[in-house]
Amino acid sequence: MKKNIALVAHDHKKPDLLDWVKFNKDLLAKYNLYATGTTGSLLSEKTGLDIESLQSGPLGGDLQMGSKISKGDIDILIFFWDPLEPQPHDPDIRALLRIAVVWNIPVACNVATADYIIASSLLDSDYKKKQPDYSNYKNRLKNIT
Ligand code: PGA
Repeated sequence: MKKNIALVAHDHKKPDLLDWVKFNKDLLAKYNLYATGTTGSLLSEKTGLDIESLQSGPLGGDLQMGSKISKGDIDILIFFWDPLEPQPHDPDIRALLRIAVVWNIPVACNVATADYIIASSLLDSDYKKKQPDYSNYKNRLKNIT
């Protein structure tokens, strides 16, 4: 199955992501690509890659991406967030990063990690990530009388 890769970058990190996507364009073209609104428009305009853009991050795009992750629709998150600039949608950013951990998907927050992920031999293998079992959590109130 074709993997689904999410691409997100804050404004000051968009040049880094654009460079990374240009460098890995041929590889990335083999996957289904998703992005938050402005990131997606920029990347598809500058690289010609086919990218499905969601809403802009601060307008709900991060939450849409998080929703896709919780449904199992995203395999890898490349998210270059800006450590030097406060963001108006900080709660949404935290939610996106949190839900990626909840569902055990690989997350790259900088170029070096993204390089490691894209170079991984697991990318094109039939590697199945460990699916977290939240049944205890879901059933935690079953015995309440
Ligand atoms: P953007 O959103 O791609 O619409 O700029 C990025 C983000 O999530 O902050």
